[in-house]
Amino acid sequence: MKLLNFCFALKGERTIKPQIRLGKILGIEIGLHYSWLIIAVLISLSLVQYFGNANPDWSRNTVWLMSVTASLLFFITLVLHELSHAMVARSNDLPVSSITLFALGGLAQIEKEPPDAKTEFWLGIVGPIASLSIGMVCLGSAWAFGWLPFSEPENPLLAMLVWLGYINVALAVFNMIPGFPMDGGRVLRSIIWRLTGNAGRATKVASLISQFVAFVFIVFGLMLFFRGAGFSGLWIAFIGWFLLSAAKTSYAQESLKERLAGVQVSDLMNRECPVVEGRINLETLVEDKLLKTGQRCFVVVENGSPVGLITAHEVKNIERRLWKLTVVSDAMIPLENIQVVEPCIPVIEALGIIGRENVNQLPVVSNGLLEGIISRDRIINYLLTREELNL
Ligand SMILES: [Zn+2]
Repeated sequence: MKLLNFCFALKGERTIKPQIRLGKILGIEIGLHYSWLIIAVLISLSLVQYFGNANPDWSRNTVWLMSVTASLLFFITLVLHELSHAMVARSNDLPVSSITLFALGGLAQIEKEPPDAKTEFWLGIVGPIASLSIGMVCLGSAWAFGWLPFSEPENPLLAMLVWLGYINVALAVFNMIPGFPMDGGRVLRSIIWRLTGNAGRATKVASLISQFVAFVFIVFGLMLFFRGAGFSGLWIAFIGWFLLSAAKTSYAQESLKERLAGVQVSDLMNRECPVVEGRINLETLVEDKLLKTGQRCFVVVENGSPVGLITAHEVKNIERRLWKLTVVSDAMIPLENIQVVEPCIPVIEALGIIGRENVNQLPVVSNGLLEGIISRDRIINYLLTREELNL
């Protein structure tokens, strides 16, 4: 059984966040998604089979130890691959929040779009270069320790080095497949961007090519499965399905960007924000405000200045019997914990923050004063109206 692993660059709401935190390297959070556990077990088991079959005279314990060590080392090399993306991003002032290993590979979460085609190119290609270099170093060390290229390694250390070498070279090659959001997709997008001078069109063309590549993965995977390849066939089909949905999302995000081009937060924000005093209790808030006005989000003010936000969600977190005893300012989300936006930023940027922070609205603040609220609903209504009028 052979399982391929990839590296992805996902953006927007569909991001995969670390669920098990391992620590920080150079200020970047490194973590695992739960789905990684499945693949770690599958890779270790497939290695037991691989090392066991190749060297039937090695003891069962040796084979198990090798397999677990080799798969752990493989995940370390995958993190190194992601770190190479992160370093290029950082050196171009693009913030990187986290590196996550998940079922299909690694993911470096880069928070901003690269400013030009050249940056995009290096951001994509550096990963495969890193994997290829790691692969060459592993194979080179094995050779230095006495392994003859293309021969069966003689001892467990050499066998692990050779396997790590091959798998990293394979990682470099497969990641260059031009499927967005894999590294090759980024490289393809950067080339189209350079040729057309249009980042938006480059994303759309690269996403369409990626959808085709994804379709090929699915068909090829299913074909392998029906020819008896078992799980690895399904695995390829599954990666294809993942690529297809990611490529479709990229395309949809690009269209959204086009439709929201030139629209600022101040154009769509709600200037008459419903306001409540911080000193009223939750029962009064529910009875007089939440139930009667139909509004779900209120700006909390103290002495006339905004200090936080309260929604039905915060009220729900407090036991019903305590509603009378709790004042709004104790239950609200304080302003310093909320991401605020300026009125002059593009709406598409605010929408990105709304998605990342997983909230429905953001306060719009200018010079410390609350100017309004920009909400998901407002943006959706704007888009629906445009669509209805065929604009
Ligand atoms: Zn990569």
